[in-house]
Amino acid sequence: MDWVTLPKVELHLHLDTSLNFEAAVQLKPSLTREVFLRDYVAPEKCLNLADFLSRVPRILELLQTERGLQLLTQEMFRQLADDHMLYAELRFAPLLHTQQGLAPKDIVRIIEAAADKGSKATGIETRLILCSLRHFSADQSMETVQLVDQFKGSRVAAFDLAGDEAGYPLATHLEAFRFAKDRHIAITSHAGEASGAQSVWETLDQVQPDRLGHGVRSIEDPALVARLKQMQIHLEMCPTCNVQLEVFPTYPEHCIDRLYREGLSLGISTDNRTLTPVTLTREYEKMAATFGWGKQDFQKCNVNALNAAFVPQPIKDDLLRRLNAAYDRA
Ligand SMILES: [Zn+2]
Repeated sequence: MDWVTLPKVELHLHLDTSLNFEAAVQLKPSLTREVFLRDYVAPEKCLNLADFLSRVPRILELLQTERGLQLLTQEMFRQLADDHMLYAELRFAPLLHTQQGLAPKDIVRIIEAAADKGSKATGIETRLILCSLRHFSADQSMETVQLVDQFKGSRVAAFDLAGDEAGYPLATHLEAFRFAKDRHIAITSHAGEASGAQSVWETLDQVQPDRLGHGVRSIEDPALVARLKQMQIHLEMCPTCNVQLEVFPTYPEHCIDRLYREGLSLGISTDNRTLTPVTLTREYEKMAATFGWGKQDFQKCNVNALNAAFVPQPIKDDLLRRLNAAYDRA
């Protein structure tokens, strides 16, 4: 089976940590591929999430100008096109790009315009998610969610909380989540990745998200798995990234196949393309080789992901039609 040309849906993709060498070398001409692989790409196995995230400042250093953000987004679309993406949601934390004086609002405007251009040039439908981070203050979280509100009607479609789940509490960010609820802003939140089932329960109860980023450690609690199924909460799963971060020791031990067989709504994403050196096509190849997944399984996951996508229903219906037609033909 040729996994490359099948249309794909990706809901969990961090833009900043997907900076490719081609964009990086334009922003830092002295950079060699060797140094890029050593200092910007994380090893196949990291000690923990904090170790993995330690490479982020080096990447962010290159993403503090309008040109940097435009190149990042433009090259992202090239990577998406290589994967035959039908629909992608790209996420980033605007407040991480202010080191050289760009205003958060301008950062969102620059990336939104570049994503709009990339989407029109490639035909890949796109929405953006603005992230707060666990180590941010309550004010920074609030500033981020207010940006989502200010950009309503653009490609900016949702709010997320990412970062070091085990190191920082959820409580700091509850006010921002309440604002999102009050303003009918769609919510996804990272939970059940670096921390266990308790973190997922806490997020479900206190945040009431539309979707969960990862959520893989829900497998530790059968009652939680049942709850996720009953609530039809979609899980954005990134198996290679989870193995890299030792959430699961090996790919075959990843819970994605078990939770899929349980009937949970889940989809496959990469999380990012640089810190985790993977493509979505490669992820499909690994799923097929490891768990014996076939065309129908990927079709089902992509339909699940589209149904959970933060895009208006008429666009969703059109994407579903195109996706199903392509899989039926393949
Ligand atoms: Zn993530």
